[in-house]
Amino acid sequence: MILITNVNVWDGTSDSTISADVLIEGDKFKEIKANIKAPKGATVIDGQGGTLIPGLIDMHQHLMLWGGTTEGTYEYDAYGQGARAIKMAERLIQQGYTTVRDIGGNSLSISRLILEGKLDGPRVYSAGPVISQTGGHGDWGPTNEMPGEGNYQTMTANTHVVDGVPEVIKAARWNFRNGANFIKVMAGGGVASTFDPLNMTQMNIDELKAIVEVANAYESYVAVHSYHDRSYNMALDAGVKSFEHGFLITEPTVKRMSETEGVFWSWQPYGSYTLFAGGFPDWFTPDMREKGAAVNKGAVIVPPLMRKYGVTVVLGSDMFGDEVRFARTNIISAKEVPDTGYTDLEILKMATSNCTKILQMSGPGRDPYKAAKLGVVEVGAWADLNIWKDDPTKDVTALKSDDDLKLVIKGGKVYKNNLK
Ligand SMILES: [Zn+2]
Repeated sequence: MILITNVNVWDGTSDSTISADVLIEGDKFKEIKANIKAPKGATVIDGQGGTLIPGLIDMHQHLMLWGGTTEGTYEYDAYGQGARAIKMAERLIQQGYTTVRDIGGNSLSISRLILEGKLDGPRVYSAGPVISQTGGHGDWGPTNEMPGEGNYQTMTANTHVVDGVPEVIKAARWNFRNGANFIKVMAGGGVASTFDPLNMTQMNIDELKAIVEVANAYESYVAVHSYHDRSYNMALDAGVKSFEHGFLITEPTVKRMSETEGVFWSWQPYGSYTLFAGGFPDWFTPDMREKGAAVNKGAVIVPPLMRKYGVTVVLGSDMFGDEVRFARTNIISAKEVPDTGYTDLEILKMATSNCTKILQMSGPGRDPYKAAKLGVVEVGAWADLNIWKDDPTKDVTALKSDDDLKLVIKGGKVYKNNLK
């Protein structure tokens, strides 16, 4: 048992913090109230007046894609990439992230090894390999690859490059067979890819519907990568629930998202706004830079529309490898985007409790953590938490410095403790 005293507690959903003690038994919260008497044998941690919040959640990560989508192809083999993925996972938990959604890349075994307690890292909800058409955002082969030839990224199942209904069904079923928690489809052009203009649609409606049907069979859901109206609307027609990026969509599409049950938006303010305003990653080609500039323009237009229509928003930093040190900057960037209307409290919910229901959408058969709730500090929920020196519910820039992160606990296990 662990008893945490002398903290202000934010439960993930309330408008304010309360002064309370927090008792953890095993991997779950046992009691949250003032003046809890320390049970015999419990470890007592003095929170030194800090603010205790739910463990942070990042809804858009790529653990396997250190160095982007080409480094694996040309520089290192799958063992090397796997070793680096573990480094990423360790860094994420040291930054306060206790859960991430890995939305493309073969992190299926790493996700399971963390679940089994054999590796350190945040809980990982993994999509496994992305599903992409030939020439789509997930086609990471070399320019001269011949049809059917395959490449490192397809052979290590970081991506499926598939065309036509039977092939996409087989890819989606392979993912679930191997433990995927949801499915990621490339449904439109992307910035960090070679063959696809930003404004193209990817997959046709029959292919998208077929993939959604496979996900429905598992009581799970589909996430799409896309930027613009045409592909967002096709995905809505097909029954997709998780919408990534979307920085070029317009008001009618946002309105339609708000009117569709279970639909949510996964926002990358760091990449789209902060980063692209200042430049691009070294490995971006000139074409990628041009596409990034277009996204940067939309990065200020779409967020206020999401707030206007009340679409559920979650934050996903979309980091590759070493960049993951900026993961938390993604939360602070949400505040830097001008005139969104979002309060600090609303932004913090996007990295905690807004994710609770969505993670559960993986369905009872594919949610590895279904035994309790994530993203909240509540009796019976998984004991995942951070303690920060200052109160991020009032100002999310409190999350800026690693030095101010005093304690990280996941499932009752201490991963970082600077309170000694
Ligand atoms: Zn991504």
